[in-house]
Amino acid sequence: MSTIREKDLGGYIEFLSQKHKIYTPQLNAGTLTLKEYVKDAKTVFNQSLPSASPKNHFLKHGEPFFTFIGDEIYEPTPPAPKTLFGVTPWDNQALRILDDIMFEEPADYYYRIRRQNTTIIVLDDRRKPPNSFTDQIGCNLNEGYDLYLTKFGGEYDVTVGSQKGADYLNAPQIRPGEHHIIQQEKKEKKLDLAAIKKYLDEGPHKKLWMRLAEKCISCGLCSYVCPLTHSFNIEDHQSLNLGVSVRKRNWENIMSQKHLGEDHVKIHEWFRRKFSQSIEERGTPECVGCGRCTTFCPQGIDFEETLSNCEKR
Ligand code: SF4
Ligand code: SF4
Repeated sequence: MSTIREKDLGGYIEFLSQKHKIYTPQLNAGTLTLKEYVKDAKTVFNQSLPSASPKNHFLKHGEPFFTFIGDEIYEPTPPAPKTLFGVTPWDNQALRILDDIMFEEPADYYYRIRRQNTTIIVLDDRRKPPNSFTDQIGCNLNEGYDLYLTKFGGEYDVTVGSQKGADYLNAPQIRPGEHHIIQQEKKEKKLDLAAIKKYLDEGPHKKLWMRLAEKCISCGLCSYVCPLTHSFNIEDHQSLNLGVSVRKRNWENIMSQKHLGEDHVKIHEWFRRKFSQSIEERGTPECVGCGRCTTFCPQGIDFEETLSNCEKR
C-alpha cells in the first residue's frame, strides 16, 4: 500500500512532468479547468468541481475529422499520450459511463484513441460538490481510474486501478504506508428510479414540464457543463477556391435555442434520455449526480428536485 503527503503533491507533479505531458486543475481567467502543466504553474489541489469537465479532452468541441483539398483527404495526426491529474471522482465515473456509450460499435475512433492514450489520476478530497445527488441515484464513484488518491488529513492513500497507474508509483514522493479505514457515511435516501422512469415514459405533456418550460430560457448551459452529454453534429466548411476544406464536429445540445421544438418537449426529452432511455440501453442513468446542471442553471432550475417531483407523481 502507498501514500503521498499533501505537501509532496507539487513535487510529484513536477517529477511526473519530466516524463509525461500532464494536465492539472488550474485557474484560467477565474475558471477551474484541467490545463497543461508547465514548470511552476499553480495547481489547485483543494478542488471544487471545475465548470469544464474533462470531456473536452476526449470528445472535442470543433474537432476536425479530416481536411480535404480536391479529392485528397488528410486525417489528423493521432493524439499524443497525456496524463490528467486531479480528475474528480464524479468526472472519472462519468468517463466510465461515456466509455460504454462511445465504445459501442461502431466505436468513436477519436474518443477511443484518446482514452487509450490517457492516464487518469483521481484526486478525492472526500467533499461533495454543491447540489450533488450521487447517493440519491445510487451511483458508485470508484470505477475505471488508473490511480486514485484519497485525502485523509495531511496525506492521501494511493490506490492503483491499472498497470498504467502502477507505473506512476515509481516516484520519490510515493511512500509505503497503511491505508485508512473509510467510515461508512450515512447514506442519503435513494430516489425510486423505476418510478421516475415510468413518469418520464408517460411523455412530455404534463404540468411539471410546462412549469419548467416557463422558467427555462433554452441557454443550454446545463447540457454543456454535463460531463455525460455527448451529442454532436457534423459540419463541412468548404473552400470555394479549391483550397483546404474541413469536416468537423461540434457539440450538439437539445436544450439550446438552436434546437427546434417546444421547450417543455425539450426539457422532458433531456431527462428522458438520461433516466429512461439510458437505463433501458445500459442499465444505468446517464448521470453521476455531480450537480453541475443545477449549479450553473441561471434560472435556478433544480435537477434533483425535478427528479424528486417525477418520483412523486
Ligand atoms: S445531469 Fe447534471 S448531475 Fe447529472 S451528470 Fe449531468 S450535470 Fe451532473
Ligand atoms: S441551464 Fe437552466 S435555463 Fe439554461 S437550458 Fe438548462 S434548464 Fe434551461
